Amino acid sequence: MTTSEQLFEKAKTLIPGGVNSPVRAFRAVGGHPLFIKSAKGPFLFDEDGNRYIELINSWGPMILGHAFEPVEEAVRDAIQHSFSFGAPTRKEVEMAELIVEMVPSVEKVRMVNSGTEATMAAIRVARGFTGRDKLIKFEGCYHGHGDSFLIAAGSGAITMGTPDSPGVTKATALDTLTAPFNDLFAVERLIDANANQIAAVILEPVVGNMGCVLPEPGFLQGLRDLCDRHDILLIFDEVMTGFRLAKGGAQEHFGIRPDLTTMGKIIGGGMPVGAYGGRREIMDMVSPAGPVYQAGTLSGNPIAMSAGLAMLRHLNEHPEVYTRLTEIGDKLVAGFRSSLASLGLNFTINHLGSMYTLFMTERPVSNFVDAKSSDLALFGRYFQAMLKRGVYLAPSQFESLFLSVALTDELVDEIIWANEESLKEVI
Ligand code: PMP
Repeated sequence: MTTSEQLFEKAKTLIPGGVNSPVRAFRAVGGHPLFIKSAKGPFLFDEDGNRYIELINSWGPMILGHAFEPVEEAVRDAIQHSFSFGAPTRKEVEMAELIVEMVPSVEKVRMVNSGTEATMAAIRVARGFTGRDKLIKFEGCYHGHGDSFLIAAGSGAITMGTPDSPGVTKATALDTLTAPFNDLFAVERLIDANANQIAAVILEPVVGNMGCVLPEPGFLQGLRDLCDRHDILLIFDEVMTGFRLAKGGAQEHFGIRPDLTTMGKIIGGGMPVGAYGGRREIMDMVSPAGPVYQAGTLSGNPIAMSAGLAMLRHLNEHPEVYTRLTEIGDKLVAGFRSSLASLGLNFTINHLGSMYTLFMTERPVSNFVDAKSSDLALFGRYFQAMLKRGVYLAPSQFESLFLSVALTDELVDEIIWANEESLKEVI
């Protein structure tokens, strides 16, 4: 037995399913999870001393590679001054200022501790601001594990076969309406059928959680127009796309301004952080400026803020990071496409910048139904074949991969080689 297997056996007796977040259990791909000991730059090292090229990067935040020195240094400096005060700090002011500068639609921002907290708070604020109860989300989008969002949810929820989780009350579920991604008419019908009852439309502007799915031309603008016409708030969940697709996220890339934005992961540089922000008059609904209650002992935690500030400052001051990320993504995907062609395979690759998914289906994937047409057993074999060749993918078809600037051209070539050999092995 490997050390990872031993640890997993013990973990299963102590932690539900042996993991602290479901997809990590490798249920969708078979085998046992790797227990990670350390990571540096583009590499992950497990408890058995194996080295892997990282394509998850902590599900996004390690955009500059693992243990990026300026972030390490900031944390080392911060811990000398204690770990938590539960009181205001200079760093959180600097953090807010930087987020407002970088994210086009954000005028005021509140820090929280995870993406889940950010979306839960954003929807409460949207309800408080509009005086309406219902929200529209898209099938296969994942917005964390808040009750309102575990309806047709993507990511681990669909990987585990529980897109509608037990434990969410019927009353809560009734307030969440769902539409297929990229289907403006479906959204319009929901709005008409629930006149003056919809507080917000929330979406991942580029989806990561049913695999990578791009908005079709006009979709985001169409949502913006519908929301404007019906006084509905448009919420971009940029927990994955924020500070990744551009320094101002998907809203900068596509030039669409949401009313509220949720953020996470990257703004903590890998520490547990989330945030939500948006138009000033909406954010001024939040307590103690306004009546919508939301709080957190650890919110704005000084260590997390220090890590996040070092990360965001680097991204803000080095626009070449985004050029390089796109270069890496384009090179990788071009290599994959050429392998698919030479093997006579027509699988779909969705890709934007440093996010991509190879879907094991020949159907173009623009929504959840398309994504679910993928051959999941084949994906499982492909995942294991890649792992055997030292490439660590997300252990589910319904996830995007996340590239980091730590990937060299040589490593990209190695991934392209591993992909071709793996496909040859599993087809
Ligand atoms: N929104 C999106 C788009 C996400 O991808 C995630 C997590 N992957 C969340 C919200 C929830 O974030 P967290 O896991 O930090 O609670």
